[in-house]
Order: sequence, then C-alpha cells, then structure tokens
Amino acid sequence: MKRIKVHLDKQSSLSHEICIGHDILDRIGFVIAKGNLAQRYTVITDSNVSALYGEEFLGVLKEAGVKADLIEFPAGEASKNMDTVLTIVKDLINRGIDRSSALIALGGGVTGDMTGFISSIYMRSIPCIQVPTTLMAQVDSSIGGKTGIDLPEGKNLLGTFSQPQAIFIDLRFLKTLPDNEFINGLSEVVKYGIIDDVNLFNLLEEKSGTIRDRDPDILQTIVERSCEIKKGVIEIDEKDRGVRRILNFGHTIGHAIEAASEYTIPHGNAVSAGMIATARISEKMKYLSSEDRDRIEKLVRAAGLADHIPASLSTEGIILKTRVDKKKEGSSIHFVLLKKIGMPFINGSVEDALIHETIEELKK
Ligand code: ADP
Ligand code: ZN
Repeated sequence: MKRIKVHLDKQSSLSHEICIGHDILDRIGFVIAKGNLAQRYTVITDSNVSALYGEEFLGVLKEAGVKADLIEFPAGEASKNMDTVLTIVKDLINRGIDRSSALIALGGGVTGDMTGFISSIYMRSIPCIQVPTTLMAQVDSSIGGKTGIDLPEGKNLLGTFSQPQAIFIDLRFLKTLPDNEFINGLSEVVKYGIIDDVNLFNLLEEKSGTIRDRDPDILQTIVERSCEIKKGVIEIDEKDRGVRRILNFGHTIGHAIEAASEYTIPHGNAVSAGMIATARISEKMKYLSSEDRDRIEKLVRAAGLADHIPASLSTEGIILKTRVDKKKEGSSIHFVLLKKIGMPFINGSVEDALIHETIEELKK
C-alpha cells in the first residue's frame, strides 16, 4: 500500500494521507479504527455501489471494531442535488448522528462531491473520509477538497472547499467498473501526462493497447502518479487561485462541449475533445510542435476517448458556453496552452476566430 501525504496550509499543519493499493479493504478498516476520528461512522453510497460493495464494506468496518451504518441514494448525476442532500441529512439526524460522528463517501464522483458537501455543513461540519470507487474519483475528484452539488441553473454551483481526513483508494473496485466509466477516468490520467509528466505520457503510449485490461500493476502506477501530480498542484494552490488552473487543461472547451450537449456527452469525452482542440490551438499559435500535438491526438484515440465534437452542436453555442465557464476572469478567457508535453502555461489572448476554426475542424 502506497501512502502519499498531502500537506496543506503550512501554518495549521493540516494534512492528510492518500493510501493506494490493490485489495486493501481489510487494511482500510483497521486504519480507520486506529485513526480514531469519530465514535461512529455513516457510509454514504449510491445504489449501484451499495449493491456491489455495501455489505462487504460494512463487514470490514465491523471486523475492525468500527461502529458504522449505511445510507444509500439512487445512482446517477441526477441525484447530486439539494433534494438528495436534505433526504440524507434528515436521515442522519434521525439516526442520531452528531458531531462525534464522521461520514465515509464510498463511490464515484457524485457520492464523493455530495458526501463531502454534507460533511462540510452538517452541524457546522463533521469529518469525512473518501473511498473512491471509480477511476475518475480515484485520480481526480476525491483529491483536493472541492465539494458540491448541482442546481437547475448549472453544475456544482453550491459547494465548499473542505478537505477529507483521509483518502483510501482500493484499485480492486475498478474491476467492476463499466468500460465507459473506466475510459471516462482515463481522460484525466492522459491530462496529467500532458500537463505534468512526460514519463507518464510515455507509459500511457507504450501501454495504450492493453491499458483497458486494467492490469493491477499498471493501474497502481498510473493512479499513484495521477494522485501525486494532483496533490502537488493543490498543495501550492488549494483554493484554485493560481497554479491549480493548469488542472483545467482541456476543460474550458470540454465544459463548454458538455454544457452545449446538455450533458449528454460524458465528461471524459468532452475533455478529450477539449484537450485536442487546445493542443491544436497551441500549435496554431506556434507554441507546440506538430509532433507533440500528433502524439496527444493518437493517445486520446488509443485510450478510447473521443477525438471529435458532434456536428450537431453549434460552434457559436460552444464558444458562448466557454464564456460562462466559472473559470473565466473579466472578459478574456484564460486558456491552459502547451509549449510541449509536460509544459503548460496560461494564456489570456486566444482569438475567438482561432477557437471557432479549431472547433469547426473537430466536428464530425
Ligand atoms: P464519476 O464518473 O464522477 O465518478 P459517478 O459517481 O456517477 O461518477 O459514477 C459513475 C457510475 O459508476 C455510477 O453509475 C456509479 O454507480 C457506478 N460505479 C461507481 N463505482 C463503481 C464500481 N466500482 N463498479 C461498478 N460501478 C461503479
Ligand atoms: Zn475533469
């Protein structure tokens, strides 16, 4: 089991650990027991994950002498809203959960975001442990302390910055993950290679034919590297004011594609098309070589991710959505562009005409 320490806020020496390994559920139980964070734990999980792992996880906690129960909500992004939050909160109150308790998020990004949110506001905040079960949540959403729920007006509009007390990543969960969800998470792994680590990028290229077989050793390497990269960025910029923006590579256009499609395109495919668009923009502005741009496009395809934008989406519609993306500042959009693989930078002067031309090129 690999342990990565995340150090935040140097003054108050706040820190927590990310533990990564294969088939580590039993040990998670004992680490939680030893951590002695709370007298009682409530596991929050969705209906799919509950059916697969709910009993087993509760059993593991019990075995370790941890007092725990479980609350389940219907699986799917549609649950990530205030109604579900209130239902869960009332359930917590009825069960007598108080400030001596802690929550455990067992599931994908939806579960992690919503459980983190509840824990940050329930009785003025109680501790939360993240146990991510999708690749997306293991390499991205469980790390960094962003919590949130969706409103009818948009995604993640209500939320907090609230760090978990620990993150336990058991790679065995990925065995049951549907292929499309696995590929969805690969988009973020590819992103880490592009923005921070040419060795990770090389490894992904080398293993691109077999990566979807989910070999435990390869998973260990790519999840570990991804977590280290994200941790390194959030340690410098926890509240997303500066360098954390590089994690947004491919996401300005990606979020716009998702929104323009009314969220019918999965996040991973929107981001992968966004990464290709941004690599092309970087090449056209003479920052990135055509060789690097080509490698990025090939890796995206080899990973099984989308390399195009559906022709049915209007280009103007996508560009308009890039402006409402909450990462914009003033009137100019800040794009994360590339000088080469592993070398991103922020640029606030990408011409609309160039974005337009590039989106048109990628339509299919
Ligand atoms: P995200 O992709 O942000 O992690 P979700 O939390 O919605 O999004 O998870 C995606 C889907 O995968 C959901 O339907 C969820 O129930 C399901 N899921 C999560 N973990 C697993 C797993 N280990 N095995 C099978 N299905 C899973
Ligand atoms: Zn993303």
